[in-house]
Amino acid sequence: MTEARRVGRSANGTPLFECICEHCGAVRHQDRRRVGTPCRACYLKLKKERAVSGTRLYRVWSGMIARCTYPSASHYEYYGGRGIDVCSEWRNDKERFFSWALKNGYTDTSELDRRDVDGPYEPANCRFISHQENSQLRSNARCNRVQAGEVKRLLQSGVKVKDAAMQVGIPYMSAWHISKGNTWHNA
Ligand SMILES: [Zn+2]
Repeated sequence: MTEARRVGRSANGTPLFECICEHCGAVRHQDRRRVGTPCRACYLKLKKERAVSGTRLYRVWSGMIARCTYPSASHYEYYGGRGIDVCSEWRNDKERFFSWALKNGYTDTSELDRRDVDGPYEPANCRFISHQENSQLRSNARCNRVQAGEVKRLLQSGVKVKDAAMQVGIPYMSAWHISKGNTWHNA
Protein backbone atom coordinates (compact mmCIF):
# COMPACT_ATOMS: atom_id res chain seq x y z
CA MET A 1 0.00 0.00 0.00
CA THR A 2 1.23 3.48 -0.82
CA GLU A 3 1.98 5.92 1.97
CA ALA A 4 -1.19 7.78 2.92
CA ARG A 5 -1.15 11.44 1.98
CA ARG A 6 -1.73 13.95 4.74
CA VAL A 7 -4.37 16.41 3.55
CA GLY A 8 -4.92 18.74 6.48
CA ARG A 9 -6.76 18.81 9.73
CA SER A 10 -10.36 18.45 10.77
CA ALA A 11 -12.23 21.27 12.53
CA ASN A 12 -11.16 19.89 15.91
CA GLY A 13 -7.52 19.53 14.89
CA THR A 14 -7.30 15.81 14.01
CA PRO A 15 -4.81 15.23 11.17
CA LEU A 16 -6.66 14.02 8.08
CA PHE A 17 -5.36 11.59 5.48
CA GLU A 18 -6.44 10.69 2.02
CA CYS A 19 -8.26 7.37 2.36
CA ILE A 20 -8.89 5.60 -0.92
CA CYS A 21 -11.41 2.78 -0.87
CA GLU A 22 -9.80 -0.17 -2.61
CA HIS A 23 -13.23 -1.51 -3.59
CA CYS A 24 -14.73 1.48 -5.38
CA GLY A 25 -11.96 4.06 -5.47
CA ALA A 26 -13.88 6.64 -3.46
CA VAL A 27 -11.59 9.17 -1.79
CA ARG A 28 -12.33 10.36 1.73
CA HIS A 29 -10.41 12.63 4.05
CA GLN A 30 -10.38 10.95 7.42
CA ASP A 31 -8.15 10.21 10.34
CA ARG A 32 -5.24 7.81 10.08
CA ARG A 33 -7.13 4.81 11.44
CA ARG A 34 -9.35 4.77 8.34
CA VAL A 35 -6.46 4.48 5.88
CA GLY A 36 -6.78 1.22 3.99
CA THR A 37 -10.35 0.57 5.08
CA PRO A 38 -13.32 0.45 2.70
CA CYS A 39 -15.65 3.45 2.40
CA ARG A 40 -18.88 3.28 4.37
CA ALA A 41 -21.00 2.18 1.40
CA CYS A 42 -18.56 -0.64 0.59
CA TYR A 43 -18.21 -1.54 4.25
CA LEU A 44 -21.98 -2.04 4.51
CA LYS A 45 -22.11 -3.99 1.25
CA LEU A 46 -19.26 -6.28 2.34
CA LYS A 47 -20.86 -6.80 5.72
CA LYS A 48 -24.13 -7.82 4.08
CA GLU A 49 -22.33 -10.16 1.68
CA ARG A 50 -20.44 -11.78 4.53
CA ALA A 51 -23.69 -12.24 6.44
CA VAL A 52 -25.36 -13.87 3.43
CA SER A 53 -22.32 -15.99 2.58
CA GLY A 54 -22.60 -17.64 5.99
CA THR A 55 -26.18 -18.62 5.37
CA ARG A 56 -27.88 -21.71 4.07
CA LEU A 57 -29.15 -19.77 1.06
CA TYR A 58 -25.57 -19.06 0.03
CA ARG A 59 -24.85 -22.79 0.23
CA VAL A 60 -27.92 -23.48 -1.93
CA TRP A 61 -26.51 -21.10 -4.55
CA SER A 62 -22.93 -22.35 -4.38
CA GLY A 63 -24.04 -25.99 -4.42
CA MET A 64 -26.12 -25.36 -7.55
CA ILE A 65 -23.17 -23.71 -9.30
CA ALA A 66 -20.74 -26.42 -8.20
CA ARG A 67 -22.74 -29.47 -9.32
CA CYS A 68 -23.38 -27.86 -12.72
CA THR A 69 -19.79 -26.72 -13.20
CA TYR A 70 -17.10 -28.76 -11.49
CA PRO A 71 -16.59 -32.42 -12.40
CA SER A 72 -15.17 -32.93 -8.91
CA ALA A 73 -18.44 -31.79 -7.25
CA SER A 74 -20.64 -34.48 -5.82
CA HIS A 75 -23.46 -35.54 -8.18
CA TYR A 76 -21.88 -33.62 -11.09
CA GLU A 77 -22.75 -36.60 -13.30
CA TYR A 78 -26.47 -35.90 -12.83
CA TYR A 79 -26.14 -32.14 -13.46
CA GLY A 80 -23.26 -30.53 -15.36
CA GLY A 81 -22.32 -33.96 -16.64
CA ARG A 82 -25.60 -34.26 -18.51
CA GLY A 83 -25.83 -30.67 -19.64
CA ILE A 84 -27.80 -29.06 -16.80
CA ASP A 85 -26.68 -25.44 -16.48
CA VAL A 86 -27.38 -22.36 -14.39
CA CYS A 87 -28.75 -19.28 -16.17
CA SER A 88 -26.19 -16.50 -16.52
CA GLU A 89 -28.28 -14.17 -14.36
CA TRP A 90 -27.89 -16.46 -11.34
CA ARG A 91 -24.46 -17.75 -12.20
CA ASN A 92 -22.92 -14.29 -12.40
CA ASP A 93 -24.88 -12.52 -9.68
CA LYS A 94 -25.74 -14.40 -6.51
CA GLU A 95 -27.67 -11.37 -5.25
CA ARG A 96 -30.18 -11.87 -8.08
CA PHE A 97 -30.58 -15.49 -7.02
CA PHE A 98 -31.01 -14.47 -3.38
CA SER A 99 -33.68 -11.90 -4.14
CA TRP A 100 -35.52 -14.30 -6.45
CA ALA A 101 -35.38 -16.97 -3.71
CA LEU A 102 -36.72 -14.67 -1.02
CA LYS A 103 -39.61 -13.61 -3.25
CA ASN A 104 -40.41 -17.21 -4.19
CA GLY A 105 -41.01 -18.99 -0.95
CA TYR A 106 -37.49 -19.75 0.26
CA THR A 107 -37.31 -20.84 3.90
CA ASP A 108 -34.42 -22.38 5.82
CA THR A 109 -35.94 -25.83 5.40
CA SER A 110 -37.00 -25.67 1.75
CA GLU A 111 -35.12 -27.18 -1.16
CA LEU A 112 -34.53 -25.88 -4.65
CA ASP A 113 -36.34 -27.89 -7.29
CA ARG A 114 -36.44 -27.81 -11.09
CA ARG A 115 -39.91 -28.46 -12.54
CA ASP A 116 -38.36 -29.97 -15.64
CA VAL A 117 -35.53 -32.21 -14.47
CA ASP A 118 -33.86 -31.91 -17.86
CA GLY A 119 -34.13 -28.11 -17.84
CA PRO A 120 -31.71 -25.53 -16.48
CA TYR A 121 -31.58 -23.70 -13.20
CA GLU A 122 -33.44 -20.52 -14.13
CA PRO A 123 -36.38 -18.62 -12.61
CA ALA A 124 -39.00 -20.09 -14.96
CA ASN A 125 -37.94 -23.66 -14.17
CA CYS A 126 -37.34 -23.44 -10.43
CA ARG A 127 -39.28 -23.37 -7.20
CA PHE A 128 -38.77 -24.19 -3.55
CA ILE A 129 -40.42 -27.27 -2.11
CA SER A 130 -40.27 -29.12 1.20
CA HIS A 131 -37.76 -31.89 1.81
CA GLN A 132 -40.59 -34.42 1.88
CA GLU A 133 -41.98 -33.33 -1.49
CA ASN A 134 -38.48 -33.40 -2.87
CA SER A 135 -37.84 -36.94 -1.65
CA GLN A 136 -41.00 -38.14 -3.35
CA LEU A 137 -40.19 -36.37 -6.61
CA ARG A 138 -36.68 -37.70 -6.65
CA SER A 139 -37.60 -41.27 -5.81
CA ASN A 140 -37.90 -42.14 -9.49
CA ALA A 141 -34.59 -40.61 -10.38
CA ARG A 142 -32.73 -42.44 -7.65
CA CYS A 143 -33.24 -45.80 -9.24
CA ASN A 144 -32.34 -47.23 -12.63
CA ARG A 145 -34.19 -49.77 -14.74
CA VAL A 146 -32.02 -52.70 -13.68
CA GLN A 147 -32.50 -51.84 -9.99
CA ALA A 148 -36.24 -51.39 -10.49
CA GLY A 149 -36.46 -54.80 -12.14
CA GLU A 150 -34.52 -56.36 -9.31
CA VAL A 151 -36.79 -54.74 -6.71
CA LYS A 152 -39.86 -56.08 -8.53
CA ARG A 153 -38.40 -59.57 -8.59
CA LEU A 154 -37.68 -59.41 -4.86
CA LEU A 155 -41.15 -58.07 -4.06
CA GLN A 156 -42.75 -60.83 -6.11
CA SER A 157 -40.78 -63.42 -4.17
CA GLY A 158 -42.23 -62.02 -0.94
CA VAL A 159 -39.41 -59.75 0.24
CA LYS A 160 -40.63 -56.70 2.14
CA VAL A 161 -40.33 -53.25 0.52
CA LYS A 162 -37.83 -52.08 3.11
CA ASP A 163 -35.61 -55.12 2.63
CA ALA A 164 -35.85 -55.00 -1.17
CA ALA A 165 -34.75 -51.36 -1.10
CA MET A 166 -31.82 -52.20 1.13
CA GLN A 167 -30.70 -55.22 -0.89
CA VAL A 168 -30.76 -53.31 -4.17
CA GLY A 169 -29.36 -50.17 -2.63
CA ILE A 170 -32.07 -47.66 -3.49
CA PRO A 171 -34.06 -45.35 -1.16
CA TYR A 172 -37.07 -46.82 0.60
CA MET A 173 -39.39 -44.32 -1.14
CA SER A 174 -38.21 -45.51 -4.56
CA ALA A 175 -39.00 -49.11 -3.71
CA TRP A 176 -42.30 -48.09 -2.16
CA HIS A 177 -43.39 -46.34 -5.37
CA ILE A 178 -42.39 -49.42 -7.36
CA SER A 179 -44.38 -51.65 -5.01
CA LYS A 180 -47.45 -49.44 -5.49
CA GLY A 181 -47.08 -49.50 -9.25
CA ASN A 182 -46.53 -45.74 -9.35
CA THR A 183 -43.24 -45.97 -11.19
CA TRP A 184 -41.23 -48.25 -13.44
CA HIS A 185 -44.23 -50.10 -14.88
CA ASN A 186 -42.09 -51.58 -17.62
CA ALA A 187 -39.01 -52.44 -15.65
ZN1 LIG B 1 -15.95 2.00 -1.51
